[in-house]
Amino acid sequence: MVKYRQIFQKIIDFIYPPVCPLCHTGVSIHGEFCADCWTAINWIDGPHCARCGYPFISGYDFDDDVLCPVCAAGKNELDWIRSACVYDDASKQIMLPFKHVGKIKYARAMANAMIWALRDVDVSNIDIVMPVPLAWRRLFHRGYNQATLLARPIAHAMGVNIDYDSVRRKYRANMGHKTAAQRAKNIQGVFRVVRPDKIRGKHILLVDDVMTSGATFAELRRVLMRAGAASVSGVSFCRVVHAL
Ligand SMILES: [Zn+2]
Ligand SMILES: [Zn+2]
Repeated sequence: MVKYRQIFQKIIDFIYPPVCPLCHTGVSIHGEFCADCWTAINWIDGPHCARCGYPFISGYDFDDDVLCPVCAAGKNELDWIRSACVYDDASKQIMLPFKHVGKIKYARAMANAMIWALRDVDVSNIDIVMPVPLAWRRLFHRGYNQATLLARPIAHAMGVNIDYDSVRRKYRANMGHKTAAQRAKNIQGVFRVVRPDKIRGKHILLVDDVMTSGATFAELRRVLMRAGAASVSGVSFCRVVHAL
């Protein structure tokens, strides 16, 4: 059986050779960035906050359980958050076309990087992978929920179910260029759990493309915990990194 699958994969590779989704250079496996594109991205591969994944300046030795000032002050309520890379000019080359120009072919490589970002956390207790819901109006205009495209391969790799429909999101105007406090206020009350039976007692991993202030994850966690979730963690492809 395995042999047939390998032969089938070879035929697929012959018809659609694996290429880097960004620059179309040939790569060895589908869903990989080429070496040049990979090195251009600011991956979070050094010491980071044990809880929220905030990257510390490399070159220093940190213990594995060191927290950033935000987490140390108890201001992050998620069990943990991980992100694959920093949101900057390089990752924007992936993020913006993926989100706004329909470049959904990037999803596989992005999700692979997010799976890599989970390397130092214990995901064995996760029951559900949940893409951050999109409001219907936005889904209608965009045609897809970018978080769902990332969540699917992550759930598949972890061997757990993906949940698209337990939470609904109300439409609110765009949150670009707002302060953290404005974002937190704007997101309040947008999520509503419509299937609490699917949430109760579950350990949930939230998936989003970008984490800006963390307000979306925090608000979603709040409604899920109120609906009886056992724990809520999060993973994003990239995150905004401000100096703390
Ligand atoms: Zn490339
Ligand atoms: Zn932290």
